[in-house]
Amino acid sequence: TTGKADIVREKSAELYEKAKTYFPGGVNSPVRAFKSVYGSPLFIEKGDGSYLWDADGNQFIDYCCSWGPLILGHNNAKVREKVLEVIQHGMSFGAPTALENELAELILKNNKYIQKIRFVSSGTEAVMSAIRLARGVTKRDKILKFEGCYHGHSDSLLVKAGSGLVTFGETSSAGIPKAFAEQTIVVSLNDREALKEAFAEFKDQIAAVIIEPVPANNGLLLQEKEYLQFLRDICTENGTLLIFDEVISGFRLGFEGAAGYYQIKPDILTYGKIIGGGLPVGAYGASAEIMDHISPVGSVYQAGTLSGNPVAMAAGIGQITELLRMGFYRDLNNKTEEFAESIQRFATARNYKFKVFHIGSIFWFAFTNQAAIRKAEEIDGSSMEKFKKLHRELLNRGIYLGPSGYEVGFISSAHTKTDLERTKRAIFDSLDIVFKD
Ligand code: PMP
Repeated sequence: TTGKADIVREKSAELYEKAKTYFPGGVNSPVRAFKSVYGSPLFIEKGDGSYLWDADGNQFIDYCCSWGPLILGHNNAKVREKVLEVIQHGMSFGAPTALENELAELILKNNKYIQKIRFVSSGTEAVMSAIRLARGVTKRDKILKFEGCYHGHSDSLLVKAGSGLVTFGETSSAGIPKAFAEQTIVVSLNDREALKEAFAEFKDQIAAVIIEPVPANNGLLLQEKEYLQFLRDICTENGTLLIFDEVISGFRLGFEGAAGYYQIKPDILTYGKIIGGGLPVGAYGASAEIMDHISPVGSVYQAGTLSGNPVAMAAGIGQITELLRMGFYRDLNNKTEEFAESIQRFATARNYKFKVFHIGSIFWFAFTNQAAIRKAEEIDGSSMEKFKKLHRELLNRGIYLGPSGYEVGFISSAHTKTDLERTKRAIFDSLDIVFKD
């Protein structure tokens, strides 16, 4: 049963049929295929501020925000103007430009956790490079990651936990040599014993521990500061580098991301999404000493034809400049807190098995009664049926969430009070329908 008539998807459906003949599954990135929600993907025609329009002319308030990059909303004038100014002088030179200095300076002057940075073209590339750097610096091969954290699709990281407290990873994709996965150790989040055991078992072999300090790719698995501090300490004791993958949390929780939020200094940081203002950019950074292991000064090789691309740098400069405005994060985070808590109050008053977890301007809807979910294993997979219904009801009411219950939502500075009020009402009505059956 649905509460409201389904939106018209004729043009999107037509485009999807065509797309399926061109691309595997009709898409260029899997989650876009709407596999775990109702219907087929909406083809987007336009975005402006907090709004999206699809090919059939449906209008939505967007809480996916391109999966995080659009912290200023769609088509922000400052970002657009900077891109348009730069793009008139050519689009790529494969040689240094002043724009790279400009973006680096904006970041490094305002982030005490890194002294040098290298720009790449995606989050995957940033993390892959950071791992190589850690291995190069420590001259060790193994890395340790956490079940439920996503770090892009490079071979060593598409690995999930097997059974047991500490496991050699099992590949989570075909096409990854077993020998690669064997270099990746996987443990549960929020489990100190598992970490201790891993460090004991693989003494002096672990180059890096990598974590999303705010795990946001498998629900929002908020960690406690004490646990992250424990992680910092155990890495230091073992000569292992700690990598914070801040592709989502970087410039999102605050200018200094999760490192600044928790005041914990990792050895290497990775960024993506927001740093590029919606164009393809990623970055990794560390102390000057660690970064100088990178080619051409050091022996760790990493390169890119389009790295530091001027148009992408321009978008980054346009966006990052706005984030440095006084009160930017305070306003955005307050707005999100108010939104999340008001939905929570509604659900609690109705006795719905529903929690809104949130931090900064990130939120996640979980169909649970648990006060906190800190590990992937604690998510009830069967609750995703409820998300599927919620997603459909919300689309029908003009609210666009990412098409998976494991994905988080993002609020941008373009979301107005009116947008949020309208969204809350749509969520209340939709929850009433979801919980009716
Ligand atoms: N790390 C994290 C924490 C991410 O969230 C993502 C993407 N969602 C990546 C790495 C990979 O980034 P990209 O999709 O830009 O390759």
